[in-house]
Amino acid sequence: MAHLVCEVVYRGIFQKNLASRITRGIVLSARKAGRWGIAFGRYGDSPQRNGVPAKDFAIVADTQEELEQHMARYEPKELHVTICVDDTLCKGVESWAWYGLQPITRLILPNGHLLVTSTQSAEDLLQDIHKKDAPYSIWILQGKASFAGLWVYKEDHTEVRILGALAKIAPQFLTIDAVSAAIREAEWGSELKVESARKAYQRIQSRPVELTEGNPETPYSFEMPRWWEMREGVTIPSLPIGKPIEGGKGYRPERSGVFKKFSTRTMRPVVDFDTCVKCTLCWLQCPDSCFDVTPEGLYDANMESCCGCGICEAVCPVKDCITMVNESAFEDNASQWEMWRRDKDAYTVWLTEKIKDKVVTERSHGFRYRGQYEEELEAGELDLGGARLADGIPGENARRKGAAAGAHSEHPVSIVTGVAEAPGA
Ligand code: SF4
Ligand code: SF4
Repeated sequence: MAHLVCEVVYRGIFQKNLASRITRGIVLSARKAGRWGIAFGRYGDSPQRNGVPAKDFAIVADTQEELEQHMARYEPKELHVTICVDDTLCKGVESWAWYGLQPITRLILPNGHLLVTSTQSAEDLLQDIHKKDAPYSIWILQGKASFAGLWVYKEDHTEVRILGALAKIAPQFLTIDAVSAAIREAEWGSELKVESARKAYQRIQSRPVELTEGNPETPYSFEMPRWWEMREGVTIPSLPIGKPIEGGKGYRPERSGVFKKFSTRTMRPVVDFDTCVKCTLCWLQCPDSCFDVTPEGLYDANMESCCGCGICEAVCPVKDCITMVNESAFEDNASQWEMWRRDKDAYTVWLTEKIKDKVVTERSHGFRYRGQYEEELEAGELDLGGARLADGIPGENARRKGAAAGAHSEHPVSIVTGVAEAPGA
């Protein structure tokens, strides 16, 4: 008797459809191979919120009895394969209903597998992935994080490419022929998708990860309350109002002591304090009260509460004053303003490096101007995850700021597909 347990770690709402298609596809493929399976979501992740990490699971077993044995759990505690569909989650997962950060590999069994959709190398990803006390293998499916949310399904073949890769990782449970048959039968079935799955099966390669490799940081954690320490009824204390800083010259809003948003975002704002005109728009419009008001009247986005929505970038009236940059470009959550105050020249160098690196400034989810999705589909080679998103600031705002989206790109050709970038708004 044998069984296979997989989880799909995804960004809540943004990738909900993608995750359920993958786990459903695993079960359908297993049935085609004469096995039994079930797919389900992590109870604690519902209701979901934009960007907050969430999980779906798929269990496959040789017999119904064995499947039932593994189903009789709230959620799996050990996994053979973790599938991560947004590589910024390699920094760790702070989901609903637990305190602290969970390393992306935490539940993987010794000699198990981590499958990541990414355009980064394994070496780069291992800068973020926490060290594990057991060996495992990393598999990289070339492509950026797919947007496949609750109401939108982005047809970029990510789900079938993952099924194809899984057939390589666990052929004893999912053969590529069974995966192909499941794709044909499912409602999203097409020969083009079968071809994408087969290409992923042929191309994907594993890379063993040694005990010595990975991010050595200890993930942050909090002590869980005991049952007798919990209050009666369902009461949620509101956050106290904030505190003045530096003798009342600045102000910092109060923040949750136990829920951090470090792993919630795929992008973060980088602020050019030298060009800020102190208009207050970012501070007013930020939905999460992220901005600390500095003694100089500048606005410092605090990474404890930033969910990476990009509203501040959209409302800022000054060109390149706020630029959203992919999370993978950062090693910590330190204050940008403190860095700027310590050494303004060094900050300018840091900022310039961050916002000019178009590999990391491409937006991970969503679209920057109307029609971008259609352009991506047209331009992209679907089996590689679609065309790279156009970079730069959002289209309509770009016009107001005198710069077209993508106008300051130094790489007119997609790094993923080799095709020309979408031209912008
Ligand atoms: S991206 Fe900007 S507006 Fe959105 S939460 Fe972060 S600081 Fe606030
Ligand atoms: S919106 Fe831009 S210019 Fe206005 S305060 Fe914020 S960073 Fe400064």
